[in-house]
Amino acid sequence: MPSPFEYAPAPESRAIVDLKPSYGLFIDGQFVEGHGTPFKTISPATEEVLSEIAEADQADIDAAVKAARRAYDRVWSRMPGRERAKYLYRIARIIQERSRELAVLESLDNGKPIKESRDVDVPTVAAHFFYYAGWADKLEYAGHGADPQPLGVAAQVIPWNFPLLMLAWKIAPALACGNTVVLKPAETTPLTALLFVEICQQADLPPGVVNIVTGAGATGQALVGHPGVDKVAFTGSTEVGKAIARSVAGTSKRVTLELGGKAANIVFDDAPIDQAVEGIVDGIFFNQGHVCCAGSRLLVQESVVEDVLERLKARMSTLRMGDPLDKNTDIGAINSGEQLKRIRELSEVGDAEGAERWEVACDLPTKGFWFPPTLFTGVSQAHRIAREEIFGPVLSVLTFRTPAEALEKANNTPYGLSAGVWTDKGSLILKMASSLRAGVVWANTFNKFDPTSPFGGYKESGYGREGGRHGLEAYLRTPHESAR
Ligand code: NAD
Ligand code: MN
Repeated sequence: MPSPFEYAPAPESRAIVDLKPSYGLFIDGQFVEGHGTPFKTISPATEEVLSEIAEADQADIDAAVKAARRAYDRVWSRMPGRERAKYLYRIARIIQERSRELAVLESLDNGKPIKESRDVDVPTVAAHFFYYAGWADKLEYAGHGADPQPLGVAAQVIPWNFPLLMLAWKIAPALACGNTVVLKPAETTPLTALLFVEICQQADLPPGVVNIVTGAGATGQALVGHPGVDKVAFTGSTEVGKAIARSVAGTSKRVTLELGGKAANIVFDDAPIDQAVEGIVDGIFFNQGHVCCAGSRLLVQESVVEDVLERLKARMSTLRMGDPLDKNTDIGAINSGEQLKRIRELSEVGDAEGAERWEVACDLPTKGFWFPPTLFTGVSQAHRIAREEIFGPVLSVLTFRTPAEALEKANNTPYGLSAGVWTDKGSLILKMASSLRAGVVWANTFNKFDPTSPFGGYKESGYGREGGRHGLEAYLRTPHESAR
């Protein structure tokens, strides 16, 4: 990759991680063998096998749900909030103490750059546990009734793009509210959830409060379909989210879904262009574009499009792609061969539909899964690359003339998770923020996450909110729901 100066390799040592050759399921406070067919998790940067992982079958899921129910009935739901808080604070502190280990393991298993796992994922994970620890003894002041009650056993299924962070978003509020959980990490990224088990043990968390079951779609399906589950929380594809919504329809299970997105990142002609370019790069190339709220549709005001594209291409050319464990790496590996195939296919659709592809010229490693930072110009709203989630480092560029046109194009999507606005005018920011149909709207920034701020979507991006006071609602009985 052309770069003004070369960087010497600066790899983070992986010696800090103590990988076991195989992992079982964590049920009722201990690791047990699974009854399904074990599978391997690899490093997507090298295709090296990292460990062998147990697959939970129906009987294992049943054991996990029963353990969670026992822990709920006998211990966790009866424990005063101030006592639950102590466990959550302890977990948060241990996450901080073991942050380097968690970051290295996350980068190994997922392929994301160490500077992101170290500086974004893991600190945000700790912050999330600290934040919800603070709520555990104050739930009656959260605006969800005078005596808010937990729901019971939560079945939680998470994706591979932010493995530990999605675990935190699911487990911290559930436990703070007095629920117990059975969580299934994604099949390509189970390792940090299995390390989190050790953290629960270190924190002396009572057995059965957190259970971790591993496996792929069938295991997830068995978990959300189990009759002993009171609450389903899912983050992943819209397709699977719809299947889950259908499968729980007509049951008393509560559901929250955090699905895909196709966010508009809107740049007006009065925006500070260099800052906007940083935000565009962060919006679509952060985490290789494996981000549900990624700013994958860039809408630029026509009068500045040439300037923006020129500076954007120059900035993209300085991005360093390669070893996720190298501290200088900006862009890591695509999470799996399957995801790489999807990104390639949808990009080829972009070519076929007549959009113009530009990509950073760089040597791709021969092993592992890689895709260069890419942008498409000449994209129209009808193009599939403007409508469908690519979930990779691919940006579609569209233009507009007026704020009204920007708004219309931005909202012309089946999704509604996030959006970005870049302008000098406060009034325009407020106008756009109130008219964009998106759960989160960032102004003159992008991809900012904070545990105090609710996150979630409209339309096909799902329903329910995670984070903030709003995030408690998903794990508490509403005043009019009768006790189980
Ligand atoms: P996916 O929805 O299949 O997987 C997400 C999680 O759901 C994984 O843990 C998986 O094992 C589990 N799962 C799969 N089928 C299930 C079922 N029938 N019932 C219960 N759980 C099930 O996502 P994917 O196949 O890994 O990725 C496909 C696309 O989804 C991506 O290209 C991307 O567009 C989107 N995606 C979105 C997010 C997000 O954060 N919103 C995350 C990952 C993927
Ligand atoms: Mn992996």
